[in-house]
Amino acid sequence: MSDTKEIINCPACGKPMEKVLIPSANINIDICTEGCGGIFFDNREFDKFNEEHEDISALIDKLKGKKYAPAEKQENRLCPVCEMKMVQNKSCINGEISVDECYCCGGKFLDFGELEKIRAEYASDRERSKAALDYLMREKGEELALESMERLKDNRTMLQKLFFWE
Ligand SMILES: [Zn+2]
Ligand SMILES: [Zn+2]
Repeated sequence: MSDTKEIINCPACGKPMEKVLIPSANINIDICTEGCGGIFFDNREFDKFNEEHEDISALIDKLKGKKYAPAEKQENRLCPVCEMKMVQNKSCINGEISVDECYCCGGKFLDFGELEKIRAEYASDRERSKAALDYLMREKGEELALESMERLKDNRTMLQKLFFWE
């Protein structure tokens, strides 16, 4: 699925979300500017913003200086695009932050402030891979860990699936 054109309602607070163009990536992100400050990403959009060096100034500017009513974390958020129940996943192996994800369309919803926290967790893919390797070493031992990393090295998507979106 690509950019949604229709206005969607925030899965956390139900307010209509505003489409904000991110020039560096040339895509629209849905932001809950009138409600809780949450952000909804279509399918693969999220990958474009989850590292610290990637430019999200347009997004930050949009959110900056406003007061939001943070939404309560509840179990039953529905995907604003396909109305399936979203599932809460950890942002990464060490992550404290849970992200709502729709297994139907691949959409992800972040509560206000969560994107910055995720981006600060790992400055780059390289660091994220290293964290994954450390984790494997601890859990499975060196030999198995190196073997898995070797197999995954050229497969960024799978690496992310395994370690970033647990
Ligand atoms: Zn909201
Ligand atoms: Zn969905």
